[in-house]
Amino acid sequence: MPTGPMLRLRFFVCQQCETVFADPERPPPCSCGTDVPMREITGDVQTEPYFTELRDVDT
Ligand SMILES: [Zn+2]
Repeated sequence: MPTGPMLRLRFFVCQQCETVFADPERPPPCSCGTDVPMREITGDVQTEPYFTELRDVDT
């Protein structure tokens, strides 16, 4: 199996259109076609209350 506990998603946001991508390494080119590099927001996402609520619902 290629997947396992080592695989951990990182989150990136396109600074042009604000689309968020999740990828373990680097995101695909954004479909909006911008040359602006994506900004990693992994840390922001994990402290985001919205995502914390989702985890609480899950348990
Ligand atoms: Zn974009």
